Amino acid sequence: MRLSAVAPLAIVLAAAVLAVLGYLSLRQWQATSELLFRQQSREMATMAAEKVRMVLNQMEDEIVARLRAAVGRPGFTPDALPAFLADAPLVGRLYLFDRRGHLLFPAAFTDRDAAAIAAIPGAIPESFWEREGRMRLGVGGETILATVLKTAAGAPVLAAFSRDPEVLARDIIARTLGPRAGQSFVAVIDEQGRPVYSPEPLAGAERVVIVSLGAELPSWRVALYQPAGLSPREAARRQITLFTAAFGLLLLVIVGGLAATWRLVRRETQIARLKSDFVANVSHDLKTPLSLIRMFGETLEMGRVTDDRQRQEYYRVITRESERLSRLIDNVLDFSRIDGGRRTYDIVPTAVEPLVRDTLEAFDYVLRQRGFALTVRIDPGLHDAPLDGGAVAQALANLIDNAIKYSADRKSVAVEARGEAGRLALSVADEGIGIPRVEQARIFEKFYRVGRSDTQGRRGSGVGLALVRHVVEAHGGRVTVESEPGRGSRFTLWFPLGTRRATA
Ligand code: ADP
Repeated sequence: MRLSAVAPLAIVLAAAVLAVLGYLSLRQWQATSELLFRQQSREMATMAAEKVRMVLNQMEDEIVARLRAAVGRPGFTPDALPAFLADAPLVGRLYLFDRRGHLLFPAAFTDRDAAAIAAIPGAIPESFWEREGRMRLGVGGETILATVLKTAAGAPVLAAFSRDPEVLARDIIARTLGPRAGQSFVAVIDEQGRPVYSPEPLAGAERVVIVSLGAELPSWRVALYQPAGLSPREAARRQITLFTAAFGLLLLVIVGGLAATWRLVRRETQIARLKSDFVANVSHDLKTPLSLIRMFGETLEMGRVTDDRQRQEYYRVITRESERLSRLIDNVLDFSRIDGGRRTYDIVPTAVEPLVRDTLEAFDYVLRQRGFALTVRIDPGLHDAPLDGGAVAQALANLIDNAIKYSADRKSVAVEARGEAGRLALSVADEGIGIPRVEQARIFEKFYRVGRSDTQGRRGSGVGLALVRHVVEAHGGRVTVESEPGRGSRFTLWFPLGTRRATA
């Protein structure tokens, strides 16, 4: 593989490796940040649960202390309890039992109370009556706090109370957890996941962690939520998408840049090669007529040619070859003028027929010598056309030169001048080797030669047709080619018949 192909491949490969590494490190970062976020969330939820439990315990301690004071007051009767309840909103229902488990309070009760009243005394172990501790009982899905108190007379009574869930949620949980701080928020949910308390609507929010509220609130849990679209996983996903898009774009730019550079380099190399071919071809083209002139000149100089007719023939060869030499040099000089933007044209009304015939005259000898059949058709009704006579003659000569050069066995050249749809058409047709269709557009480019034309065994500089195109376009016209490989070619120069003056 060539070095020029290895370098872009290495760049693309390096970019691909970078992309993979970048992607992997992003994934790693995503996993780590998610873990960290979960840890932090768990800590936040645990702290919130701790706070709720602490406040709840404090409130319950307070209620028990006040109950103890009320029961221990001399002359206490259960009739005093409604007044106590009015001042303790957290207490849902309150029951008072004597040592034998008989209900002392309330005097009237519902079916729901009946179930609790039947269950509570039996759930209290004997030993519990001896100490002034506290005990939590689960009765009918509710948590009941039981404690043994002493009356002023020293008789033990069992007080048991449930909590009012609404007061619990409103006065304890809401106040303790407070409004949301930051993006995530803490809510308390029941066993079915329904919110008991939440500072925000839970719909759409992502639940990150759940922690229990302990024995104090066994059926409720603290949960930490992240509003929709704000979780670190989604942020990371967005980051990854952004990174992938940015990297994809970068990769595209790199590949696009490489492709453009490659095309530029290839074009430059092509031009450099064409230029070196051009120099070699021009030198060779100049050499042929020069050596002929020299050979015939030397022969004449030595006085070896005695026959007058032959001498005349030699003079003619020398004249034709020097004309050919002039044409070649003119081509190169004009081409360099065109390339440098210095070629000017002097377009004046010009008679077409003399222009064509004078140009053909220069080829008389070579056509005859090589056995070409020449057909010339000039529309007799042609008026003068606005042309730069010298430039058009040069373009026509280039076409005739090519027709001769690129002919094989069928040697024929047909030159035609006619008016067509307000234009002058000058065409040169041959029955030579023809031009493949794909090459037909390119032959007018400077230095371009079909298959570099060496394969066709004909020398040339590759600037003839570029010059032809420039001349005809400077007149506001165009050049067309119809050709078929093996059958021949027809080049036509189309000139507008309106008057114009132009420069290159
Ligand atoms: P060159 O000096 O090579 O003839 P031109 O610019 O005159 O340069 O022509 C460009 C190429 O077009 C030639 O190399 C040849 O391959 C092709 N070409 C031009 N004229 C003819 C023709 N009459 N028949 C076949 N091929 C032609």
